[in-house]
Amino acid sequence: MHVRRKLVAGNWKMNGSLDGLNEVIAIAEAAREASGVDVAICPPFTLIAPAGMRSAGGVRIGGQDVHHRASGAHTGCVSAAMLKEAGASLAIAGHSERRTDQHETDAEVRAKAEAGLAAGLDMIVCVGESDAQRRAGDHSAVVERQLAASLPDDIGGAELVVAYEPIWAIGTGNVATPADVAEMHAAIRAALVARYGDAGQHVRILYGGSVKADNAAELFAVADVDGALVGGASLTAAQFVPIIEAAARS
Ligand code: PEP
Repeated sequence: MHVRRKLVAGNWKMNGSLDGLNEVIAIAEAAREASGVDVAICPPFTLIAPAGMRSAGGVRIGGQDVHHRASGAHTGCVSAAMLKEAGASLAIAGHSERRTDQHETDAEVRAKAEAGLAAGLDMIVCVGESDAQRRAGDHSAVVERQLAASLPDDIGGAELVVAYEPIWAIGTGNVATPADVAEMHAAIRAALVARYGDAGQHVRILYGGSVKADNAAELFAVADVDGALVGGASLTAAQFVPIIEAAARS
């Protein structure tokens, strides 16, 4: 039996402001009470340092992206060492919005994950199928291909996190059914163990896609759901704290 701590991570996307960091303080207070749960907030780059200071260690702070190179002529990009210096201890790579908007490929996502891990960040690597791919019955094959090409080869275990985020569920209010989540998370776990052996049992698999207070408990009860990557509902303590509490009860 492998015990994995639940991780509830908030992705603020291009939202938030210095004024809004009171939410982080309230989230950090709840996170301190939630035994057995890791809580993280990934704000825009500009808010990483102030969010870390305001939360005073109550939540982990992460980047929403990381460049695969350490430094150089890459306008607008931020390296893993820069994230760490700002106070981040983790980062997301391969969110579907970046795969679409910035045309990020699996190979680039993998390079980002490798760079983050090498610098000592925990890395959340996102995978997930589109609505058309699911309707065509290709969802499992798509996710297996993304895992094979987006994940690094050398891992210890818990520093790598996979987020299964069906694109059709992100920001839409359409949540995958527990049966769909169970099927995909079991397939992801099997792929991780086939590739990494026992270390694959330590990789946490998050579900992401319209997680809210009223569906979190049901999702956390599904086997191999080790937490959630939360977008919209992570922006306020009022919506995010009940999700953290559901993870603590699960
Ligand atoms: C996300 O963007 O990673 C996400 C899961 O968003 P939401 O919770 O808003 O669907």
